[in-house]
Amino acid sequence: MSKKFRVDIAFDQCKGCGRCVIACPKKILKLGEKLNVQGYPAAYQAADGCIGCGGCFYQCPEPGAVTVLEIVED
Ligand code: SF4
Ligand code: SF4
Repeated sequence: MSKKFRVDIAFDQCKGCGRCVIACPKKILKLGEKLNVQGYPAAYQAADGCIGCGGCFYQCPEPGAVTVLEIVED
């Protein structure tokens, strides 16, 4: 079975720069409507289909904002 992944973006750490949105080859990340504590529209995973490539993680200028997680099904 192929591995599945998802991305967790720390809502209040995101600066809303959109680099992850552009970097994602699956085009599943979006900037939200709601502003976070810093006043930025935080990015979030809007659809399934993350392939765990890490593109969003490597493009993000905020250390610790993006975490790519493998979904473990048992
Ligand atoms: S790990 Fe890759 S596929 Fe998954 S959200 Fe980030 S850029 Fe998109
Ligand atoms: S690259 Fe990082 S700071 Fe920029 S929108 Fe994505 S999660 Fe937020």
